[in-house]
Amino acid sequence: MTEKNLIIIGSGPGGYVAAARAGQLGLNVTLIEKENKLGGTCLHWGCIPTKALLHQAHLYKEILEAGANGIVTSPPSIDMNNLMNYKQNVIDNMEKGIQALLKKYNVEIIQATARLTKDGKVECTYPDSKKDIISADHIMLATGSEARGIPGIEFTDKIISNKEILTVDKFPESIVVIGAGAVGVEFATVLHSIGKDVTILEMLPNIVPLEDGDVSRELSRAFKKKKLKAITEARVTSIKESGGGVIVTYERKEKENTIEAEKVLVAIGRKPNTHNIGLEDAGIETERGFIKINDTYQTSVKNIWAIGDIVPTPQLAHAASAEGIYVVESIAGMKPKKITTDWIPAATYCEPQIASVGLTEEQAVSRGFDVKTGISRFNTMAKAHILGATEGFVKIVADSKTDLLLGMHIIGPDATEMIGEGVTALNIGATISELRHSIHPHPTLSEVVYEAIEAVEGMAIHGG
Ligand code: NAD
Repeated sequence: MTEKNLIIIGSGPGGYVAAARAGQLGLNVTLIEKENKLGGTCLHWGCIPTKALLHQAHLYKEILEAGANGIVTSPPSIDMNNLMNYKQNVIDNMEKGIQALLKKYNVEIIQATARLTKDGKVECTYPDSKKDIISADHIMLATGSEARGIPGIEFTDKIISNKEILTVDKFPESIVVIGAGAVGVEFATVLHSIGKDVTILEMLPNIVPLEDGDVSRELSRAFKKKKLKAITEARVTSIKESGGGVIVTYERKEKENTIEAEKVLVAIGRKPNTHNIGLEDAGIETERGFIKINDTYQTSVKNIWAIGDIVPTPQLAHAASAEGIYVVESIAGMKPKKITTDWIPAATYCEPQIASVGLTEEQAVSRGFDVKTGISRFNTMAKAHILGATEGFVKIVADSKTDLLLGMHIIGPDATEMIGEGVTALNIGATISELRHSIHPHPTLSEVVYEAIEAVEGMAIHGG
């Protein structure tokens, strides 16, 4: 036994939440972070700043269009300095919150770059280059991920990732976004909403390809309607800097095409931060860059655990937090309930928003379920008309044999807020007949969820 129960490496939403839970449970816990700020990618270069910009971009568009419904304003413009200050204030407030939480739960915080040693300890290199070795009964790796680059194409000041776009002095007038996953469609939404020329290039036949096929097609239609260009089956072959911008060459249906723009945003996925953390020294096995874990997040070395973007589960902040809590509760001997990966929700803040949990129709069919579905559209509900946000629908996927809910997929206003209902329903094993008894308030957007449930049995009154 060592004096410390747990060392956690990395203070993103995986590591800091795990540290807080460990403190709550009375474990002696140390959190190591190499940056001089806590919160990781999610808080500083990911979810939070992006959503702050998306919120303001949405407001910009609302102001621009408000005249049509009786509020006359001058056309809005962007004050870049104030916009970036607002975004930074949100981050700073949340960081102060994390500091306060960890203090409250007696978590020791060390600023250092951590590396595992051969004998299962942790070497810390402090900002002044001094080194030290510390040990604990358990170690949790939560080192996160970074943007993946296109092989053979370096990042520059014109070929950038989600990190650099968040700190530009001026948004580019034109941009090519490579990749139509969550990062790609979210930044495309920010820039298009404030009037920039955006083209998305996606390699696969569908944008947001992990979502249900109906959702992906609906987003394509919505983008087309607002003239946000998204070109699918487009494989980027080269990016050349020229004068003030870039020339992107891509292949589509065996034809070569080019687009010129001021900048390129590469949003083709994230690679786990598993290099230089001593995995080989400690004897921890990896697979395609990810750390190999068993179903309790234990690595190939006993008492060393790995969670978040470095393990092959969804690369989402809330997944990392849940995994961190699971491991800490296991260490504390609480026998927590296993995480069902299928029931981890996804939320994408493009416009219209997308949120989903559980199986898509395609997944349910391929897993052999006898699938029944129900769809209800937002344009059938008064609240959506009041908000002027009538695009999209709620889709329910269920099993005909057992009547169990299998998945909920929402594209439309406030989708990311409403998906919680689907998460709860899946976690308690709700059936469609049970869900049909839940009365939803009027007038709300959530009535569309209720109508989609009714639609599974062909009984939706307004929107089947
Ligand atoms: P992603 O894997 O979700 O999407 C990348 C997209 O790029 C895919 O559609 C892929 O087909 C495409 N692609 C890959 N190589 C390409 C190429 N050479 N040319 C054209 N297209 C190419 O990755 P992401 O959008 O970068 O996001 C990374 C991770 O972060 C994901 O797990 C994502 O879910 C998560 N994330 C979540 C949120 C959120 O929850 N709101 C926001 C941002 C990121």
